[in-house]
Amino acid sequence: MNFNSALENIKSYEAGKPIELVVREYGIDKENIVKLASNENPFGCSPKVKDAVRAVIDNMSLYPDDSMVKLKSALGEKYGIGLDELIVGAGSDQVIEFAIHAKAHNGSKVLMNSVTFAMYEIYAKQVGAVILRTASREHNMEEFYALYQEHKPSIIFLCTPNNPTGDALDVHSMISFIEKVDNDTLVIVDGAYMEYARFKDPSKAVEPKDLIQRFDNVLFLGTFSKAYGLGGMRVGYGIASASIIKALYKVRPPFNITTLSLEAASVALKDEAFVTECIADNFKEMKRYKAFADEKGIQIIESYTNFVTLSLPDGKNSSEIAQALLKKGMIIRDLSSYGLNAIRVTIGTQVQNSRFFELCEPLL
Ligand SMILES: *Cc1c(COP(=O)(O)O)cnc(C)c1O
Repeated sequence: MNFNSALENIKSYEAGKPIELVVREYGIDKENIVKLASNENPFGCSPKVKDAVRAVIDNMSLYPDDSMVKLKSALGEKYGIGLDELIVGAGSDQVIEFAIHAKAHNGSKVLMNSVTFAMYEIYAKQVGAVILRTASREHNMEEFYALYQEHKPSIIFLCTPNNPTGDALDVHSMISFIEKVDNDTLVIVDGAYMEYARFKDPSKAVEPKDLIQRFDNVLFLGTFSKAYGLGGMRVGYGIASASIIKALYKVRPPFNITTLSLEAASVALKDEAFVTECIADNFKEMKRYKAFADEKGIQIIESYTNFVTLSLPDGKNSSEIAQALLKKGMIIRDLSSYGLNAIRVTIGTQVQNSRFFELCEPLL
């Protein structure tokens, strides 16, 4: 059968391996498997969220509140923005999809970093858009500007902090770049790890409210999947001028967020103390990765997220190391598909991280 020809050069997204698959493929007991592959919060979500979800379980037969007023009000309050400046998606992934489908079409140009979140390319290719990438591994605003001037793309992605490298943009350099960009270019600032960056270094902390007050061509993305520990609930959001949000609403399917997910995300926002504690622990544990890498003479990219990217020396192969770890029940991310001889490891609990060092020790 013939399909939309735009799909021919798309490779489907390769998600982190689920624990169940490793149980089946390698016959390892579930309790002995550690998953540090998808940047989930190792402490899960706030206990208050679990109670709240249990309390709405009887509402499952009814369609969810499609106005999402409870969640949107909570987000509006957190960020000091209006409800017409917000859209909620099944993960921020879905908001990326909305934005590309609303703005780009066959032949549109979409500019992104050389190494960045894989879904930008996948959604862009679905509409037949052309992908442009910078050269450097980390975001370089001069390279972005040169490519912008040459190609006048319709969408620019800035992923800060960036996945899978962990580096973050300085807010001032990001703003000076956006100031030079034409109003008809949609600039998408993906802040999936912004909670971590804000904790570690305020000079990297993007304030969505400031951004959208200044620019009506910017879309900021946030998610509940990382710091808030709700990856399984699939909730993310976009913040932008009302005119952008109005366009995104035209491509949104109705009831795109479940009742349980809406409740979970709304309540998660009310327990910021839980999230801050998790983030503090994350950076404490990250120091152990730095020490481990130093000891092994391995280069580690300064990370503003809940993961570290270890660049492997010549003679060590990231796919082989990821495979060897997998056989021992340790799931991490091989970055060879991004063109890097590197592995990405989510910061886990103290026990999980110790296990990683123990298993990695003989391999490096
Ligand atoms: C995890 C992630 C997302 C999306 O996560 P959702 O679970 O879809 O909200 C978006 N961007 C980046 C950079 C990510 O790492």
